[in-house]
Amino acid sequence: MIRKRIFVHGQVQGVGFRPFVYRQAIFFSLTGFVLNTSQGVKIEIQGKEDNIGGFSRTLRDDLPPLARIVRLEEEELEPETGEREFIISESSSQKGHEVLISPDVCTCGDCLRELFDPRNRRYLYPFLNCTNCGPRYTITRSVPYDRSRTSMTCFPLCTKCRAEYENPLDRRFHAQPNACPDCGPEVWLVDSEGRNLARRTEAILGAVGCLLQGGIVALKGLGGFHLACDAGNEKAVGNLRRRKNRPDKALAVMVENEEDAKYFAEINEEEKNLLEGIQRPIVVLHSKEENGISPEVSPDTNRIGIMLPYTPLHFVLFHLLKREKKEQKTPPVLVMTSGNSSSEPISLGNREALSRLKAIADRFLLHNRDILVRCDDSVAFSVGGRGGFYRRARGYTPSPIFLARSGETVLGTGPELKNTLCLTKGDQAFVSQHVGDLKNLQSYDFFLEMCAHLQSVLQVQPKAIVRDLHPDYLSSRYAEEQDKYPVYTLQHHYAHIYSVLAENRFQGACLGLALDGTGLGEDGTIWGGELLYVNTKTLEQSRIGSFRPVPMPGGEMAVQEPWRMARAYQYQIWGERGLRDLQSKSEEELLLQILEKGINCPLTSSCGRLFDAVSGLLGLVHCIAYEGQAAICLESVRDKTGKTAYSAPFKWEGDFLYFGNQELFTAAAEDFCRGGRVQDVSRGFVLGLIEGLADWAAEASRVNGVENVALSGGVMQNLTLFQLLPKALQKRGLSPLVHSLLPPNDGCISLGQSVYGQRLLEMGKINF
Ligand code: ZN
Ligand code: ZN
Ligand code: FE
Repeated sequence: MIRKRIFVHGQVQGVGFRPFVYRQAIFFSLTGFVLNTSQGVKIEIQGKEDNIGGFSRTLRDDLPPLARIVRLEEEELEPETGEREFIISESSSQKGHEVLISPDVCTCGDCLRELFDPRNRRYLYPFLNCTNCGPRYTITRSVPYDRSRTSMTCFPLCTKCRAEYENPLDRRFHAQPNACPDCGPEVWLVDSEGRNLARRTEAILGAVGCLLQGGIVALKGLGGFHLACDAGNEKAVGNLRRRKNRPDKALAVMVENEEDAKYFAEINEEEKNLLEGIQRPIVVLHSKEENGISPEVSPDTNRIGIMLPYTPLHFVLFHLLKREKKEQKTPPVLVMTSGNSSSEPISLGNREALSRLKAIADRFLLHNRDILVRCDDSVAFSVGGRGGFYRRARGYTPSPIFLARSGETVLGTGPELKNTLCLTKGDQAFVSQHVGDLKNLQSYDFFLEMCAHLQSVLQVQPKAIVRDLHPDYLSSRYAEEQDKYPVYTLQHHYAHIYSVLAENRFQGACLGLALDGTGLGEDGTIWGGELLYVNTKTLEQSRIGSFRPVPMPGGEMAVQEPWRMARAYQYQIWGERGLRDLQSKSEEELLLQILEKGINCPLTSSCGRLFDAVSGLLGLVHCIAYEGQAAICLESVRDKTGKTAYSAPFKWEGDFLYFGNQELFTAAAEDFCRGGRVQDVSRGFVLGLIEGLADWAAEASRVNGVENVALSGGVMQNLTLFQLLPKALQKRGLSPLVHSLLPPNDGCISLGQSVYGQRLLEMGKINF
C-alpha cells in the first residue's frame, strides 16, 4: 500500500479534469480525493504500487482534450487507515488564483452526435457543450472560472441540466456553460430594422434562406459577429465588399468539413490537422482552380483562407444549408468575415451590431448569450512541415507562451498596427488576442478592455511597462499615462527579435534580421531592414547594419502608393534621369520637386518598402487597398520554376554593414527595362533577396562570432522567405530561429517588449 500526493498546475479546471481523475482512480481501485485549489488541482491517491503507477501514466498520456499540465509535484505520504473510497472534494477558495482559463474550443464529437440525433433533447440546439468543448475565454468575466462569473449566470440550470452538472460521471460535470433548450440561451432572426422574424431552428432556417438568395447575414458567433454570404455568388460577395468598404483584401470562407474543403483547396496532412484541430483557425491554403468560389473572394492570390465550423450554431447552419440545396453538386461555402467596417474591431453586442452593421447585413441571427471578450478568428498556415500564424486569437488565447526563465510581471503595450499586448506572470507570457490597428477610438477601447481584463483574470499587476519608441502610438501614450509603474521604451525591431528569441526560449547572444514594414528607429528615421545584435542575458544590443536608406516621397503616401517607392529608388540610383518614364508630366514634376527638396521625404531602411518599390516598378498595384497588397501581388506573379536571381552584395562602410538593396533594385529595373517579364523580375528579386540576406548575415556572423540568426518582421509572412531564408542560412552554417507560436508581424511585438522588461528589472537597471 502506498499513498501519494500529486499537485497539478496548468489548465486543469473547467476542462473535465477532476471527473477524469475520479474515473481513473475508480478504474485503478484507488482511494483518496481530488480537490480544486487556487493554485491547481490537488490529488491524494492510495493503493497498490502497480495501480498507482498506472494512474500516474494516464495522467501523463491520456488527459482530457482541453487539459494542459504545466507542472506536476509528487510526494509520498504515510498510508491512511480506514479510507474506503475516492471522492471529489469541495473546492477550497483561497486567494491568489493561478489556474488558467481555457481558450474557446470547437464542439466535440460527442456533442455533435447529440446535436444531430432527433431523439436527443438537444437536437439542433445551437448552444450545447460539455466539459470537453465549447466557449470559455469569451464568456468569462473573471476568475475562478465558475458559472456565476460567465455570461451563463442569467440562465439558471433546469433539473436535467443540473443533474448532469452535479454528476461526477457525466460528461457535463461542472461544465459551466451547460444548457439545453429548456433553460439555456436561444437564437432569433431580425431584419436590418431590428424587427423579429423567427425564433430557434426557424430563425436559422430563415438565415439559410437569406444566404441562398444572395443576402448578407450578420451572425453572432463566439468572439464577435461574422458577416456571412454565399461565397459562390459573385454578386453577394461584391455587395459585401462594397458595403463593408473592403476592396481586394482576401475574405475567409467556412465549409462544413474537411472533405468539402478539399473540393476547394489543396490540403496536405499538416493543413488537415490544423483545419480539424480543436482551435479551428482559418487555414490559408492553395485554392484549386475553377472551384466555384467567386474570384472576388481572393482576387490577389491563389491562396484562400478556409475554416471549419466551430460552434453548434455553425454546424446546424451548414446542416440546414445542405438540406436546402441538396441538388447542387458544389458543397456549400460561405464567406465568413469579421462583423465590422474596415479597421474597426469586431462587433460584440446585439444592439451594437445592429447599429454598426445595419447598412451591411440584410438579416441578423442574434442570441442572448453575451460575448464578454471580443476575439477574432485566428489565421494560420503550414508549409513544408512548418506552421505559423498571421493572426493569433480565438482558440489560442489565453494560452501562455512558456519562457526560458521566470521574472516579474511586465506589461508590453505593443505597436500601433496589428496590436496585441502582453503580460508576463512568472515564466509564462500571456499575449492578448489580436487587438487590431490602434488608429481609432473603438480599437483603443478594446485595447483598454484587454489591458484590464488580462490583469484581472491573471490576478497580477505589472511592475513595469515597456512601450514602443514611437511616442505617438496610442499604446505608447497609454504607457506614458500610467504613473504607478516605471515605463521603458524598446525600439520596434529589437522588440521583434526579443520576441522570436523568447518564443524559442533562446538565451544568449544572437543576430537578428528584422525584415519589416515600418518602425521608428533610434536615429529618427524609419527602420525595417535591420541586421541587429542582441544579447538576452546582458541586454547589450547594437545595429550592425541595415538596408541603405531611401526617401519615402510623401511619407505615408509612399506606403499607400507603391509607385512612389519605385521612383524614389530610381531617383536615388540614376538621379533625374531615373524619372523620365513617368507617364504624367505633372506627376513627374511634382515627385521630382519633392525628392530634390526633400520635402516630406523621411528616410527609410525598410525591407517592406523595397517590395513596394519592385511591385511599383512592375506596375502591379497603383494604390494599395490593404497593408502588404503590393508584396502579395508581387509574390503571386512570381515565376516558380526558374532559378536565376539578382545579386545583392553587402558593403562595409566603416564598421557598418549595408545591405545591397540598391543593387537589387537596379538589377530588377534594368531587367524590366530590357523587356524582362514581370514573372522573371519577381523571381529574380525574391531569390536574390534571400541569397543576399543570407550572405549579409553570414558576414556579420563571421565578424561577431555568433551563429544564431533570429528572423522576424512582417516580411517573414512572405512564404518564399519563410521557406527559403532559413535554408539559405543553414547552408552557410548558421542556425535560424523563427516564429511558430506568434505571427512574425507586429502581433509579436508585445511579447518582445515584456521579456525585455523582465530582464531589465532582473538586472536592476532603472534607466535605459
Ligand atoms: Zn462536447
Ligand atoms: Zn437545461
Ligand atoms: Fe514590425
